[in-house]
Amino acid sequence: MYLKKIEIAGFKSFVKKDVLSFTSPISAIVGPNGSGKSNIAEAFRFVLGEQSMKSMRGRRGEDLIFNGSPSIPRVNRASVKVFFDNSKRFLDIDYDEVVIERTVHRDGINQYIINGSQVRLKDVIELLAHANIGSSGHHIISQGESDRILNAGIRERREMIEDALGLKIFQYKKQESERKLSKTGENIAQVMSLRKEISPHLMFLERQVKKIEKSFAMRDEVKELYNEYLKREDEYLKYQRSRIEQEKKEPAKKLIHLERKLAETKELLSQGEHGDKKGREVIKIEEDLGIVRTEKDAKSRELGRIEGQLVFEERRRILEAEKQKQGVHKMVPLKEVEELVGNIKSDIEKVQKQTDISKVKTALSLVIDTLKQFLSIRRTAGSGEESSFKRELETLSNTKEELEDYVERLAKEEDNLMKAYESLRREVEAVKDESRMAEREMFHIMSEQSELRGKLNMTEALEERVHVERENFEREITEARVLVGKAVIDFLDYHVVDKEGNKLDRAAIVKEPRTVQEERRRAIEKIKIRLEDVGGGTGDDTMTEFKEAKERDDFLGRELEDLKASAQSLGELISELEKKLDVQFKEGISKINAVFQNFFSILFDGGTAHLSVVKELRRARLSEELEAGEEASPEESYEGIEVHVNLPHKRIKGLEMLSGGERALTSIALLFAMSQVNPPPFIILDETDAALDEANSRKYGDMIENLSKSSQLILITHNRETMSRAGVLYGITMGSDGVSKLLSVRLEEAVQTAK
Ligand code: ATP
Repeated sequence: MYLKKIEIAGFKSFVKKDVLSFTSPISAIVGPNGSGKSNIAEAFRFVLGEQSMKSMRGRRGEDLIFNGSPSIPRVNRASVKVFFDNSKRFLDIDYDEVVIERTVHRDGINQYIINGSQVRLKDVIELLAHANIGSSGHHIISQGESDRILNAGIRERREMIEDALGLKIFQYKKQESERKLSKTGENIAQVMSLRKEISPHLMFLERQVKKIEKSFAMRDEVKELYNEYLKREDEYLKYQRSRIEQEKKEPAKKLIHLERKLAETKELLSQGEHGDKKGREVIKIEEDLGIVRTEKDAKSRELGRIEGQLVFEERRRILEAEKQKQGVHKMVPLKEVEELVGNIKSDIEKVQKQTDISKVKTALSLVIDTLKQFLSIRRTAGSGEESSFKRELETLSNTKEELEDYVERLAKEEDNLMKAYESLRREVEAVKDESRMAEREMFHIMSEQSELRGKLNMTEALEERVHVERENFEREITEARVLVGKAVIDFLDYHVVDKEGNKLDRAAIVKEPRTVQEERRRAIEKIKIRLEDVGGGTGDDTMTEFKEAKERDDFLGRELEDLKASAQSLGELISELEKKLDVQFKEGISKINAVFQNFFSILFDGGTAHLSVVKELRRARLSEELEAGEEASPEESYEGIEVHVNLPHKRIKGLEMLSGGERALTSIALLFAMSQVNPPPFIILDETDAALDEANSRKYGDMIENLSKSSQLILITHNRETMSRAGVLYGITMGSDGVSKLLSVRLEEAVQTAK
């Protein structure tokens, strides 16, 4: 026996602390109508965690608290304690005695206490569920409720039987798993949509990163090429400069010397007997020639520079044309783009006005045509960039031509002066005396000067070209630094080597034909174009962003795997539980059927009764499906329990045809059968025997005695036969104070009290 006693204080008609001890397998509670017997059954429901107010005949928590009577004031809390003997650990808690207590206050607040510690309702329910004291209260049959199982629908009936069979715990687990599964499903969907959301960006970043990695490889390649190219170029230019300087040195020195001699001779010619007409003519020609030559020298140098620039510009033009060919860049004037946008806008506006789909299609293909046309025109047309190069080249070539013309004119002038000079010289040479010594000397100096100037002039023009080349070279270095990075280009420390890996010195370097260096430069340009296509920059930000995005995606991927795995195991758990439920339920039903049949035939002196599992379709779907001629899928039907009875000597179809008494007997047979198969620790029956006649009361008494072997019984009754089977009898009375009074009685007194 597990149930020891119940303590009731302030609950309904009980005011001060009343204790009912259950020391016998069968206890009966007797008393006149309205004395508070059913309140005791409700006190049990209350303390065991009942949440339905209706089943405790109240609307609010307050209705459960003693409300006072004309002579006794109301109280503020109702409290019920139930005491269990747990020495056999039928409750899963390590105490020999377990006291469960529930209190409700006037403000509706409930408190649950297990062995003095406040707990949650859930804890109480879980503790009891393990001991087959289920929340559906199949072990507490309220007054007039015994045939509830017959009135219930097949589904509710199934639930009651499941509860009685102790299968609710599996149902809870199943529901819990189903809740988790649906939550997991939601999480899976969420993670999947998150991944889908970031996927385009991730793909974009991945492409960027690939480009960046490719550009790194190209940059390494171009760095190597650049180093060799720049080093060679530097060496070449340095060599050229020193060579020119060397070449200039001697003539320059001689010229200075000649200049001095010329000045002296001029001085001589301009004074005394030398200051005659011939002398002045020589000086004049020398001076004119000086002016023309200085001018010609300057312009020749300028020409040299222009030629240098032209080489550079031409090189750039070829590079740009190459880029155009590969379609890397294409400049489109803003005006043309605006025009295109305008055209498309008006095309679309036309589409918007259309309602006819075929016209919409035609109008849309118009838009596509407009776009195609634009592209094809732009593809074939030269770009603005190209024409600007052309202009630049044209200007340079024009300047060059002008300069050439000018230099030619100067050369002619020089030529004329030289002719005059020649005839003058011949005249002077013709005089064979000493008188024209100074003039002769002058001619001598002048022809020497002319020769030296010619040499120097060429060298200087070359110097100018080399100077321009040096400028271009500096620009190339800047470009290289932009492209490959400042620190990476360190060509000065670079060593040019031959095929065998031997270090080459300057002399060896400049021996190489310039065309080879030109090829090297073109190779660099080619890589540069490809690099531009890939896009510049170090891509640090993109790399970091990609790394982060990838990590996030990987994380989500792992999470998705985990979620899917847990969904799988939840699904397996659910089907396992379903299988278990199904097997145990069907086993339970057949066990119940055996006992049910037995009890039924005892009560009715024959006849048959049994439960059957039936499938029913959901009503809402049923009619639709029948109309549509479809078959219902298994999920849309559910299993319930049908009760079949066959009374002896009667032809009865269906429970509706039973009399009140027959109904009560059938219910009793079924309820007792359910309790027998999976006995709860205690059963409370509130006037279940009310409708029984004397003969049946005896049979009922026998059955009760039998049942009390497996469950403790608390019987609220007016029935003498039932009372006689009880070991303990409590009498309840209610006086004029409206308070239930409790007294232990003997059978004879009980019979008296009950009246
Ligand atoms: P019957 O034999 O007719 O079924 P019973 O002995 O089962 O009667 P109950 O229904 O348990 O009687 O008791 C009803 C009594 O409890 C009534 O007198 C009712 O006034 C009283 N009662 C119910 N709630 C309260 C309350 N909150 N405060 C005071 N009395 C209450």
